[in-house]
Amino acid sequence: MTGSGVPEDNVRDSRERKAGVEELVVVGGGISGLALAHYARRLAGIEPLVLEADTRPGGKVQTEWIDGCCCEWGPQGFLDNVPETLELVDQLGLTGELVRADAASADRFIVRDGELRRVPLSPPAFLTSSILTLGGRMRVLLEPFQPRGPEEETVFAFAARRIGREAAEVLVDAMVTGVYAGDSTRLSLPSTFPRMREMEATHGSLVKAMLAKLKERRRQRAAGEAPPSGAGPAGPGGTLTTFRLGMQQLTDVLAASLAARVRVGCPVDAVGRDGDAFVVQVRSGEAIRARRVAVAVPPAVAAGILEGLLDPPAVEALRAIPAVRVAVVMTAYREPRPFAHSCRGFGFLVPGRERRRILGTIFCDATFPGQAPKGTTLLRTLLGGARAGELLDLADRDLVELVRRELAGLLGGDPVPSLIHVIRHDYAIPQYTLGHRERLRAIDEAAGRFAGLLVTGNGLRGVALNACVSEARRAAAALAATA
Ligand SMILES: Cc1cc2nc3c(=O)[nH]c(=O)nc-3n(C[C@H](O)[C@H](O)[C@H](O)COP(=O)(O)OP(=O)(O)OC[C@H]3O[C@@H](n4cnc5c(N)ncnc54)[C@H](O)[C@@H]3O)c2cc1C
Repeated sequence: MTGSGVPEDNVRDSRERKAGVEELVVVGGGISGLALAHYARRLAGIEPLVLEADTRPGGKVQTEWIDGCCCEWGPQGFLDNVPETLELVDQLGLTGELVRADAASADRFIVRDGELRRVPLSPPAFLTSSILTLGGRMRVLLEPFQPRGPEEETVFAFAARRIGREAAEVLVDAMVTGVYAGDSTRLSLPSTFPRMREMEATHGSLVKAMLAKLKERRRQRAAGEAPPSGAGPAGPGGTLTTFRLGMQQLTDVLAASLAARVRVGCPVDAVGRDGDAFVVQVRSGEAIRARRVAVAVPPAVAAGILEGLLDPPAVEALRAIPAVRVAVVMTAYREPRPFAHSCRGFGFLVPGRERRRILGTIFCDATFPGQAPKGTTLLRTLLGGARAGELLDLADRDLVELVRRELAGLLGGDPVPSLIHVIRHDYAIPQYTLGHRERLRAIDEAAGRFAGLLVTGNGLRGVALNACVSEARRAAAALAATA
């Protein structure tokens, strides 16, 4: 602290800025970059400068309201079981704006043989469910008796080995579609679902690990202890949560809290080094000197920006992290029940073996009743992903036709939508394929040679919004330590 009560770092920061050297430049103003900037301020008193290429901050987080319907471009919500996101929300004064998913949205469906089947929520319901054949269900019960597997394998290989091929193709492939729009036969288990890998490594079985956790919870309750970090108010699974005005409310308030220190329409082309400062090269020709730089853009973009600074293997590692394309088609109907199916519950996912052309549909008005006018049915259908990225080459009209055909086949009836809105992401969700951990190591090692340089964002350590926020907090703490 200085004599005036202002943290010493803040004083140094303003002196540095006057001398033309920024304390911290954050490249990329998605949730990763904005949260990192927030925590850099909060944890270390550093005033960051965020440079965002687009004309608005937020990245994938974007909400449009059309005719009273909430159209989310990216995340529909986040699970309320990660303390860092709830802490961030609280620090921004947004706790009162949180909206939890309706209890009825616990009902989820998976398409099996062309029909929506309810996902069983308890072991007895699973035993009598039609989601798997009797043989498939019996095979799941043999999970505790399967041997441990290798250090790294694909999600599909892990699931087929532990719970059988049918459950892997139906249940696990649907889960991978829901989170990554990805191909379960290519994604790395330890990089995408590290907890499952840990459960096997520690307990030798997923079932045994879950039983051990239940036992521990019971013991904690009996002893009056707090649940472990990661278990939120809604239990370990958490509840899907959004904001009254949609997800963009979070990034809008976050960007506003950083005041004039977020510059939009400001693409960065390169980061280099000049003496003991970084030089951030903006496309307009401006060069900004900085003591620290955090690059929070998609890995392929980061590769281009850092080409002159990092070793070639690290740049190659960044380039080797692929991403899938995803289209979101919003359709609304001015009826509470436009299809034969009730469209109550969270929605449905389509496993790859069904060979359909959509990835799944969220029943938005059932999940968040405030996201559509009363009596309106609002659906959000996703297409593309690892399975069919080429669908994004279709014209809007053809994409919508395709969605209508698929919804008619799965939900029954072909009502005419009163609202249609098509959203496209050419770089939607990064894919952590086999070898991702080695790529991360190469990137971290190369970046670690420059004190004050960080490479972050959803391309590296988690694609969920919660993971982006947790990683941003961790990264900000690490940057603060390089004062
Ligand atoms: C369709 C879809 C649905 C999703 N659903 C969910 C969900 O329900 N729940 C959930 O938790 N997660 C979900 N996600 C994932 C989550 O939204 C993202 O992982 C997260 O928002 C990514 O944040 P980010 O800041 O890392 O990246 P981005 O949001 O991609 O931000 C990167 C930013 O960098 C900027 N940029 C790029 N190049 C440059 C440059 N040269 N100079 C300066 N800036 C640059 C971009 O314009 C962008 O603003 C979804 C994603 C998609 C696409």
